[in-house]
Amino acid sequence: MSDSEPSAPAYRYAAPDEWHEVDRYFTQSFVGEDDALIAARRSGAATTMPHAEVAANQGAFLGQLVTIAGAKRVLEFGTLAGYSTIWLARAAGEDGRVVTLELEPDNASIAEANFRAAGVAEHITMIVGPAAESAARLISDGAEPFDFVFIDADKPNNPAYLTAALELTRSGAVIVIDNVVRNGAVTDADSTDPRVQGVRKVVDEIAAHPELDATAFQTVGEKGWDGLIIARRR
Ligand code: SAM
Repeated sequence: MSDSEPSAPAYRYAAPDEWHEVDRYFTQSFVGEDDALIAARRSGAATTMPHAEVAANQGAFLGQLVTIAGAKRVLEFGTLAGYSTIWLARAAGEDGRVVTLELEPDNASIAEANFRAAGVAEHITMIVGPAAESAARLISDGAEPFDFVFIDADKPNNPAYLTAALELTRSGAVIVIDNVVRNGAVTDADSTDPRVQGVRKVVDEIAAHPELDATAFQTVGEKGWDGLIIARRR
């Protein structure tokens, strides 16, 4: 497939050709990205974190998780251009609601236009500002509990986002945390990278939490070598 075809990524992460080819094969086989999703993914290039959105097959995976969990209320930390948000909102369905938290006003404007184009704007509330503060406001306002949380913002704050997610979810809720492998650096206890330490702290907290069942796995693909934690509240 040439780069001009719709489902080709606009950018190639440093990853072996085979990883790109396998992602492309599965994405072509299974993932129906419409024009709005393709435009949202590509618009990520104009944000403050170009190409940091999930891959198409990962967006579809998030959507599958929301559907399998029967989640109707979804909370997302880290909107960027709203690519993952659209997958989450579509999976939550007509009676679903996504609250997504984004720091950067410029990213939020791009995301808002993408939500409108994707026909999901009325199902999404975007809160612009530091996510820890936005989440604290949701807690103090007594927000209705969420069924599904996707944590994908600044990684050093993962422990704070997990704490907030636990305040904001019901029993049975699913919490997914992205980018937890970091090219394998996650196993380096002495890492000076605050993103690695943010992941390691959250791993320890989830492992020790009496109400959480969890697993994590590493992935390879067009986004390089990374992985996810999936936790569920008992
Ligand atoms: N979830 C998006 C997707 O897959 O399409 C990608 C999110 S990107 C990896 C991380 C986003 O988190 C960026 O848009 C960045 O501006 C935002 N972010 C970084 N620090 C933040 C903070 N303190 N509060 C809220 N958002 C933050």
